Amino acid sequence: MKNVQYKHTEIAVKKKLGQNFLTDRNITRKIVASSGAGPLDNILEIGPGFGALTREIIELCPVFTVVEKDPKLAEFIRTEYPQLTLIEGDFLDIDLVALATKKPLRVLGNIPYSITTPILFRLLENRRSLVSATLMMQHEVAMRIAAMPNTKEYGILAVQLQAFCDINYLFKVGRKVFRPQPGVDSAVILITPKKEDPIEDADGFRRFVRIAFHQRRKTLLNNLKESYNLDTVESDTLKLRAEALSIENFFQLFRQLKPPQ
Ligand code: SAH
Repeated sequence: MKNVQYKHTEIAVKKKLGQNFLTDRNITRKIVASSGAGPLDNILEIGPGFGALTREIIELCPVFTVVEKDPKLAEFIRTEYPQLTLIEGDFLDIDLVALATKKPLRVLGNIPYSITTPILFRLLENRRSLVSATLMMQHEVAMRIAAMPNTKEYGILAVQLQAFCDINYLFKVGRKVFRPQPGVDSAVILITPKKEDPIEDADGFRRFVRIAFHQRRKTLLNNLKESYNLDTVESDTLKLRAEALSIENFFQLFRQLKPPQ
């Protein structure tokens, strides 16, 4: 196992915790600047690590919250940045609604790649408690989030997120600026929940999107017919594959469905 040292702290890097630390100050500045964070924001940083982003955020907003799972890194943050509110634990376990009682959260983070999807879905579920999320993730996942119809990247992740949030692919970050160096490049994405949900039944929509993409090569008709009564649906659409539908097409189709039997 590799060790990484910064100031007074040395840790054995834990792959499971997605520990790839940013070393380029231009990049950390760029990420924080592009988040739109300001002094009055209620900021939550996921996985501060050795504080690469943390110290840039502090320049804009002196008091905020960080959540760090690694006890040694939590201790590092506690010592280096005593003015911050530190939650030592798992981001996936924290109550975002409770953190957002006074003001919705602006989330930032170079997030652990192993749990990117669970983090994204958790943010999506809690979108009413968010102003925005600026996240660095594996480039390949960023492409799947920002994907357009009729591409191989376009799938459940793109449709779920783009249905309820505006997605901005900000920029790519090469693997060379991390320590230890990961095997893949990264990218930064800005996720901004839409002011109002375009669909009332978000849970029903989520299930519908999952079923529509169940077997990508099959038509919508074949994927949907087991789970929905399709009598009321315009039949030309059903001859298409899910990947051909825009987000707006997904909304239209969902609205045409009769409730599941
Ligand atoms: N922000 C730092 C570190 C990024 S590496 C930088 O850019 O250099 C990812 C960080 O997330 C690590 O500090 C890791 O310990 C932490 N982490 C991993 N899983 C986590 C989880 N479930 N909840 C909170 N933090 C987590």
